[in-house]
Amino acid sequence: DLSNAIMAQDEMGRPFIIVKDQSQKSKAQGLEAKREHILAARSVANIIKTSLGPRGLDKILISPDGDITITNDGATILSQMELKDEIAKLLVELSKSQDDEIGDGTTGVVVLACSLLDQALELIEMGIHPIKIANGFDEACKIAIAHLDEISESLFDIDDRENFTNMLLKVAKTSLGSKIVSKEHDQFAQMAVDAITQVVNWERKDVDFDLIKLEGKVGGSLKDSQLINGVILDKEFSHPQMPNEVLPKDGKTDVKLALLTCPFEPPKPKTKHKLDINSVEEYKNLQEYEQTKFQEMIQMVKKSNADVVICQWGFDDEANHLLYQNKLPSIRWVGGAELEQIAVATNAKIVARFEDLSESKLGSCSKVKELEFGTTRDKMLIIENTEKTKTVTCFIRGSNKMIVDEAKRALYDSLCAVRNLCRDSKIVYGGGAAEVTMSLKISEEADKQTGIDQYAFRSFSKALDTIPLILAENSGLNGIETLSNIKANQVKQNKSNIGVDCMGLGSNDMKEAFVVDPYVGKRQQILLATQLCRMILKIDSVIVKGSDHY
Ligand code: ADP
Repeated sequence: DLSNAIMAQDEMGRPFIIVKDQSQKSKAQGLEAKREHILAARSVANIIKTSLGPRGLDKILISPDGDITITNDGATILSQMELKDEIAKLLVELSKSQDDEIGDGTTGVVVLACSLLDQALELIEMGIHPIKIANGFDEACKIAIAHLDEISESLFDIDDRENFTNMLLKVAKTSLGSKIVSKEHDQFAQMAVDAITQVVNWERKDVDFDLIKLEGKVGGSLKDSQLINGVILDKEFSHPQMPNEVLPKDGKTDVKLALLTCPFEPPKPKTKHKLDINSVEEYKNLQEYEQTKFQEMIQMVKKSNADVVICQWGFDDEANHLLYQNKLPSIRWVGGAELEQIAVATNAKIVARFEDLSESKLGSCSKVKELEFGTTRDKMLIIENTEKTKTVTCFIRGSNKMIVDEAKRALYDSLCAVRNLCRDSKIVYGGGAAEVTMSLKISEEADKQTGIDQYAFRSFSKALDTIPLILAENSGLNGIETLSNIKANQVKQNKSNIGVDCMGLGSNDMKEAFVVDPYVGKRQQILLATQLCRMILKIDSVIVKGSDHY
């Protein structure tokens, strides 16, 4: 059988036959394919489900070149796993879209999607057509969201600022509860809330994340992390004798910054050339020429009324000395991206030629200060805000890079949680409480169905149950027992705020424990998980481009 063969020619024009590898297993199709996909998805879910919740465990991820990441964040774990299966890769995309839109709930969304798929598989094996299942899930999803909307509460009034900030603090704490920083979670929650409330636009109810920077530096401990009112720069002044703090000059309110992308160097001819120096005289002339050029540059900076020079390039000792002599504290080798950050934060224009410098192009800050660390001689510079500028920097310290990185991710999550509440102050109760009440609602609806949808509804409701089930298991509780208790109590007391007592507080009342999740995040989780499930149910073969089997 030569149907697998291709005729080809080598470079000399001689023909030969390539017979494709016949032992290669072609990808399964139809039902078999679905089963394979779902099993692959399940194996991914099994890995990340132990990270869910405040008692979830961390994972160590080791990259091919040996870099280590320790994390509890679903999106990060998934993005660093080398997944071969195409469906598993879709789960990565899923957690990424949750991350992009909401920033929190990335583990939950994958766990939910996988348990929906698991349930779907059972229905498929019962003989129900995948599209019917997908349609039933869609209906169930609508009911779930309508119910979620109904039970969501607006606990606080955005206009009651003080109360609102207190609430934000509690939400930030819930979101940090499962993370490496949980020991310092009061401090980190405060940092997240302070950062957001400084930059939030209350009228538009939005937060511009460009105004919040996350910076980390290894050293010290998490406790030393702080919120900086301005931007921070991993640099020091170019000359050791420059002052370590620059304050506004007498009678002024701001320190003026010149941001330069031109070097403190005498101009060079554009094309290659050779310079011959044959006598001492000529050498002296050249030196003098350089000197006057430097002087001119410095005069132009002085004339613009700048107090501090921030330059993208280095400058040689001569220029450095002159800057120092002229009382122009300066910072060199500032990267392009950082320079832009400073420009945004201080309202400066970046200047590419000394001739273009003018007062209107300078940035403003209230001071530039060197920050020193412990016994090391490490220094960083802080450019503090004036009243008009509002960039803030969350500056994270930690004993090693892994901790700093994970703390950054954790803080980012809680910044998102807080931002989401500023956008929409509706919340639902966490600890699986919201999932259980939705599950109850859907199974109630299932009983009313006469058609095949009732199966899909029941399965959807079971899939929602996995969240409290896993939360309970991860906290060392008996999953099934806890779940049935919660369900019974929610029905008996007609309350939707009973959930898993992960922290062993002795109460299942999530309202009392103040375990809340933003409504928008929970809603997004359910929508995205259902969508993905539908997509996978519709797939019946995977064709990999560039490979010869399908
Ligand atoms: P994700 O990456 O999905 O945000 P987390 O590991 O942060 O996952 O876990 C979030 C889940 O843990 C949510 O369902 C939330 O309600 C629940 N949770 C957080 N803190 C508590 C707590 N103190 N008690 C019970 N459940 C909690």
